[in-house]
Amino acid sequence: MVSPIVIIGTGLAGYSLAKELRKLDATIPIVMISRDAGDFYSKPMLSNALRAKKSAAALVLKSSAAMEEELRARILTHTEVVEIDLQARCLHLEGGMKQSYGTLVLAMGADPTRPVLEGNGGDSVLSVNDLDDFSLFEKSLAELDARGTSRDVLILGAGLIGCEFANDLLARGFHPTVVDVADRVLERLMPPQASRRLQTRLEHAGAAFRFKAAAVSVNRSAAGLAVGFSDGSSMRCDLIMSAIGLKPRIGLAAQAGLEVHRGIVTDGKLMTSDPRVFAMGDCAEVGRSVLPFVMPIMFQCRALAATLTGTPTVVKYPAMPVTVKTPACPTVVCPPPSGAEGAWQVLETEDGLEALFSDGASPDRALGFALQENSVSKRQRMAGRVAT
Ligand code: FAD
Repeated sequence: MVSPIVIIGTGLAGYSLAKELRKLDATIPIVMISRDAGDFYSKPMLSNALRAKKSAAALVLKSSAAMEEELRARILTHTEVVEIDLQARCLHLEGGMKQSYGTLVLAMGADPTRPVLEGNGGDSVLSVNDLDDFSLFEKSLAELDARGTSRDVLILGAGLIGCEFANDLLARGFHPTVVDVADRVLERLMPPQASRRLQTRLEHAGAAFRFKAAAVSVNRSAAGLAVGFSDGSSMRCDLIMSAIGLKPRIGLAAQAGLEVHRGIVTDGKLMTSDPRVFAMGDCAEVGRSVLPFVMPIMFQCRALAATLTGTPTVVKYPAMPVTVKTPACPTVVCPPPSGAEGAWQVLETEDGLEALFSDGASPDRALGFALQENSVSKRQRMAGRVAT
C-alpha cells in the first residue's frame, strides 16, 4: 500500500495544497489532521465579518465532512499532533493514537503574540486568528450589546489586522481606540503620508489612536477594564483585542529536531531539513522569509503539489499586493522587502494616493508600492512594475 501524504493543518495552506494535489493525482492517499473542527473558511473574512453581518457559523464555506468527500481525503478533526517521530515517519496524536506518513506537510499556521500585561485583567484580552476565536469575540460583543451601556474597544496594534478590526467594529457601532508603540499606522508597510491618510479617514469614521505607547497593565473593575500605558497614561474600556503580531508554530518541528528559526526553515522547494517533511503557510520560513498572507500560500501550494507528484518545483512569487480591508480608506500595499535600500516617492491628491518605493536604479522598476482610495484601481499596473 502507498504511504499517505499527511498534512497537519486544515487552514488555507492545508486545504489549498490538498486541492492542488487532487488536480495532479486522483488516487494518492491524503490524510489531513487538525486540532480544530476542520471546517473550510476564508480567514481574511474574520476582520470584515461584522460589516458583512456574518456569524462564525455563517463564515463556514464547507464542513470538514464535505471537504473529506470533495478531496477524497481522510480528515481527522479535533485531533492534536503532539509529537513527530522523524525516524519512524510517524505522528503521535493526542489520546495515544499514531499516524504514519510517507511524506509529511506541516501547515500548522501561527499563534497570535500575547501581550505581557500586569494586573488581574490580562486573561480578558482577545485575539482573533481562527473561527473559534471569532465565536468568542462575537459573544463578547453580543454581551456588550445586551448591556446597552458603553461600547469602548481597545485594539493593541495599529498594523493591518488592528486597522481592519477598528474599521469593522465601527460598522457595528463600537468605539475603537487603537494603540501602538510605533508612531503611525501600518508603519512597516507604507510611507508616512499613506499612514496619515488611513488614520485620518478612520478618525473621521469614529476611531481614536494613541501612538508611542504600549499597554502595560489591565485591571478589571465594576466600571470595566482599566488599562495602563507605558507613557503613564490610562484609559477605561469594555473589551481589549490584541493584534500585535503572529508567531509561526514551530514547537513540534523544533522538538522533532527540524531546523527552525523564525518559522520552520525550508528551501525553495518547501523542503525542511528532513527530506520527507515539507512546510508551508504561516508556520514556514521559506528562503528566510515568513509571508503570512494568502497569495504566497497559493504559489507555495502549486509548487509543492508539483514537487510531491514527481516534478520538483521551486516556488516563485510575482509581486504580491495585499488589500487592507478598511472601507473608510481603501488601501493596497505591496511593501518593499525588509531592509531594502531606497526611498518612497509619493503623489497625493484629494482623491487618492500613489506611492512607489524604488532604489533609483531604473525609472520603470519599483521595489514596492502603496495605493489609496481612487488610486487602488492602478493595482495591476503597479504590480507589473515591481521587480521580483
Ligand atoms: P491556519 O489557517 O492558522 O491553519 C493552521 C491549521 O493548523 C489549523 O487547522 C490548526 O488546527 C492546525 N494545527 C496547528 N497545530 C496543530 C497541531 N499540533 N495538531 C493538529 N493541528 C494543528 N492575508 C491576506 O493575504 N489578505 C487578507 O486580507 C488577510 N486578512 C487576514 C485577517 C485576519 C483577521 C487574519 C488573522 C489573517 C489575515 N490574513 C490575510 C492572513 C491569512 O489569512 C493567513 O496567512 C492564512 O489564512 C494562514 O493559513 P494557514 O493554513 O497557514 O494557517
